[in-house]
Amino acid sequence: MSKEMVLVDDKGKRIDGRTSEESREIKIEAGVLKNADGSAYVEIGKNKVLAAVYGPRECHPRHLQNPTKAIVQCKYNMQAYSVDDRKRPGTDRRSIEISKIVSEALENVVLTGLYPRASIDVYIEILQANAGTRCAGLTAASVALADAGIPMKDIVASMAAGKADGHVLLDLNKEEDNFGEADVPMAIVPSTGEIVLLQMDGNMTREEFDRAIELGVGGCKKIYELQKDALKRRYSAEEAEEEDDSDEQ
Ligand code: UDP
Repeated sequence: MSKEMVLVDDKGKRIDGRTSEESREIKIEAGVLKNADGSAYVEIGKNKVLAAVYGPRECHPRHLQNPTKAIVQCKYNMQAYSVDDRKRPGTDRRSIEISKIVSEALENVVLTGLYPRASIDVYIEILQANAGTRCAGLTAASVALADAGIPMKDIVASMAAGKADGHVLLDLNKEEDNFGEADVPMAIVPSTGEIVLLQMDGNMTREEFDRAIELGVGGCKKIYELQKDALKRRYSAEEAEEEDDSDEQ
């Protein structure tokens, strides 16, 4: 793929046919794993992400225990087969960074004060990657926490915006991320509008940055509706199952 490739044509269409304000297709499902306390599966375009939650449980390693509150320990992991060129398995600087920012974003909503010394463990597995995996992972983790019944003041919704070919765009795909000018992943607490994750890779003007935030926040709000929808579907399915069980008795 050459660097001269056109990412946005003269009609404002992107290579996957989207307008600047459109996200990729989104699918969210809650409660997909039986053995975790909570779980979620998210697809955003070609990204496929699984999140699982355990806890609150005793914090290991012990020296990380906080006597006043629980800590959120996230582990972001990109599978070797998730990208075109096999990724070397295991922890690297990038996965440590993403684990940290996702943990910090989630600590803004989890009522950690209820569980002194405990740990809430969040595992994010990237099964297929196409840019925006930290946002998809955080979106999935949030639903998995709610699915685990962890008390939270709200769920966190996440999406990136960025810039490619001089246009500010919502939800960059891999080509736009690789050959574009900037990527701005973000996450919000929708009920308050608080921004709990904001990063920027690349360059944009102040005006472009404001527009990226506007687009990104709009994308996060859309994600939020789909997250709530997934949780409602999960609990109505559970209720139906319980009703069936009591009918059989
Ligand atoms: N990527 C890759 N190999 C790696 C890391 C990333 O191919 O070791 C790709 C992957 O598609 C990822 C994209 O580059 O989604 C952008 O990565 P970035 O670090 O910007 O994080 P993300 O956008 O996924 O949150």
